[in-house]
Amino acid sequence: MLERLLGDVSPDVAKILDGALSGRELTRDDALRLLATQGPDLHALCRTADVARSDDNGDDVSFVVNRNINFTNVCYVGCTFCGFSRHRDDPDAYDRTMEEIIAKATDAISRGATEVCIQGGIDPRKDHTHYHEILTSLKAVHPDLHIHAFSPEEIDFAHKKSGMELRELLTWYKDAGLGTIPGTAAEILSDDVREAISHQKLRTDRWVEIVTAAHEVGLRSSATIMYGHIERPEHVATHLELLRDLQKRTGGFTEFVPLGFIYERNHLGKSLEAPGPSAADDLRIIALARLFLRPLITNVQMSWVKMGPKLSQVALTAGANDFGGTLMEESISRESGADHGENLPPEEIRRLIRGMGRTPIERNTTYGVLRRFDDPALDPPSLEPESGPEISGPRRFREAEAGTRLRIASSPSR
Ligand code: SF4
Repeated sequence: MLERLLGDVSPDVAKILDGALSGRELTRDDALRLLATQGPDLHALCRTADVARSDDNGDDVSFVVNRNINFTNVCYVGCTFCGFSRHRDDPDAYDRTMEEIIAKATDAISRGATEVCIQGGIDPRKDHTHYHEILTSLKAVHPDLHIHAFSPEEIDFAHKKSGMELRELLTWYKDAGLGTIPGTAAEILSDDVREAISHQKLRTDRWVEIVTAAHEVGLRSSATIMYGHIERPEHVATHLELLRDLQKRTGGFTEFVPLGFIYERNHLGKSLEAPGPSAADDLRIIALARLFLRPLITNVQMSWVKMGPKLSQVALTAGANDFGGTLMEESISRESGADHGENLPPEEIRRLIRGMGRTPIERNTTYGVLRRFDDPALDPPSLEPESGPEISGPRRFREAEAGTRLRIASSPSR
């Protein structure tokens, strides 16, 4: 029976998958072929990615206890896929005060968070000093909290306002407490797609320039893609190739996060014939990312906000090894129509991971291990020893982050 299943796989697909498992770097043409897989070929792709995930990460599945804080929804960039932004006179426009931001962080810490993810709309009334004030205000109250903040679009905005050199600005933020940046605002890193879906947003070269500069000053980032709208397979292949090449140069990406397009409540969704990505599309891109980006990026995160908890569990069998964050609040996907909630408590994430026969691992933002949950009977477990292993990461970043990990592990707030 098994032979019959394997015999159904197209020979060219089987050859690519075999090469991926033996360590061959996949080519752009390989990616295009894998993006076209269906039926037994798609099943073989997911199965192969699962084997690669096991080789790269073992059976540990990581997650981070974090909180999203969107400090304003006022934005004038006008991305067609966005259901979150408001004009400043809209009745539901908001602009959080520093006290409100700190209160949200304080609440998050009381619920076990080690990270806040801070992003907001691009409000032309603000400038680079506002972002700096967020950092200094938070760090004054919560010095051990990891601040993962400001997308390349926000950095671009701040840089233009500041008159500073880009690296100078990023270093100023880093010195004020910025820990890492989200690799969002990437969508599809091809300018023809960017022009069509968000023509005022920063272009591919600028995204690369900002992320490269961030990595070079010691600010690591995630890497993302938003798929399932007007892009074609060649755009996805180009995007993955660009990220892999950038990682070869800097080693600064912590993880890759595929984000399926949410179509229900935004202009782009209304203009499409097909309603966003299918479950097969979700699994295909996760599996492809695992095989295409290894061994340079070995953390592949699924988005439970976009996919829902049940499909996220399936993604653990298709190449994903990270469950993302608890989030506690989430409005960007929700206001575009995602209906999978905005808070997934750590206990629920652990239950979902255990349901797939895997071991939950609480991590910090840069994939340092904070706690292992090997034995369900010991839940909640004792803290991982401070010298616990990291899941991945280039040596120079690991060394730089060791101090942060030790502080978090011994923090009384945990
Ligand atoms: S995606 Fe971001 S930059 Fe684009 S309109 Fe929405 S809030 Fe503004």
